[in-house]
Amino acid sequence: MKRPIYLDTHATTPVDRRVLEGMLPYFCEKFGNASSIDHIYGNEAYSAVSKARLEIAKVIGCEPEEIIFTSGATESDNLAIFGIANKMKEKGNHIITSKIEHKAILDSCRHLELQGYKITYLDVNNNGEISLNDLIKEITSETILISIMSANNEVGTIAPLKEIGRIAHEKNIIFHTDAAQAYGHIPLNVIDMNIDMMSISGHKIYGPKGIGALYIRNRNPLVKLVPIIFGGGHEKGFRSGTLNVPSIVGLGIASELSRIEMNETSKKVSMLRDRLFNGIHSRVKVEINGSSKNKLPHNLNLYFEGVDAKALINEVKDVLAISTGSACNSEDMNPSHVLSSMGMEEDRAYCSVRFGLGKETTEEDIEIAIDKIVDVVTKLRSL
Ligand SMILES: *Cc1c(COP(=O)(O)O)cnc(C)c1O
Repeated sequence: MKRPIYLDTHATTPVDRRVLEGMLPYFCEKFGNASSIDHIYGNEAYSAVSKARLEIAKVIGCEPEEIIFTSGATESDNLAIFGIANKMKEKGNHIITSKIEHKAILDSCRHLELQGYKITYLDVNNNGEISLNDLIKEITSETILISIMSANNEVGTIAPLKEIGRIAHEKNIIFHTDAAQAYGHIPLNVIDMNIDMMSISGHKIYGPKGIGALYIRNRNPLVKLVPIIFGGGHEKGFRSGTLNVPSIVGLGIASELSRIEMNETSKKVSMLRDRLFNGIHSRVKVEINGSSKNKLPHNLNLYFEGVDAKALINEVKDVLAISTGSACNSEDMNPSHVLSSMGMEEDRAYCSVRFGLGKETTEEDIEIAIDKIVDVVTKLRSL
């Protein structure tokens, strides 16, 4: 049986074959420990890790030494939040973030609240955008960190990173951004944008799962963190533990490919994304959730009035792999915190689905998707 067309790339992406090929030698032949460099095995591993660091640095315009490898964006987010909270508690106990962050940020902040920290969760408008005036108003002498995601994983909204960074730096506040959805998909530059820390994930850019990085600025300003994992002092003491060399190699290659192919891929996926929307829109009633312009090129989040998203996803599942994009499982039946924060009624949130296109998505996939969605929406509405 043919496998369904995959349109859920915000959840994860397949590993690019070129990434896999590049990783393979680092399992059985070049298996050395990157910190045991008295022989060729360790040296090979060390060089491979250095190359990966350089490739990541090239994507975001930083120095290779400013890249710390982690197990993924979740860990990077935790390290950024707890690392600053612990390091700077003498200076202040206030953090500003937004209501539409990933749970890796929100749950970390909730945990800090239990320890007495004060967290401001900025509102967003119905496009999923924060207000810079609100941000400025919320800053106090106690504010130690601003953490705002680069692009949202449900509606794809891109944050005004440069403006946020400028505001943060004017007030000498550290600016962290969760770039799991943006890194390798849209241009990012930590110098231009005044970004002090950035969380990155491998599996959102056709790299392996379980690998990521945190960019930590080392000058103007030098960012200091208390680690969350202690041990052998790897990664300048920020993150102990033997480096996952094959995955790091994979993240490096995925980063290189994303940098080289970014323009072409983003043109292609945004064209297909617009075609998907127009194809559906010309035949059934549908609305876009979030901004139709200020968003990731591969994102589309749609509201089908009167159509339960779970039912829609279930009805199309032999042909299309799509999701709501919110962590909505059997225990947690709340509507998406992102859509709710954007001011949507529960009904609308429950009738919304997310499409994530990828570099392997074809025109034919899109035509099939349009027909299937239109058929099922029409059928569910007639019931
Ligand atoms: C996927 C994602 C994460 C988590 O990344 P992992 O590498 O899977 O831990 C964090 N933030 C955002 C915005 C994401 O999309």
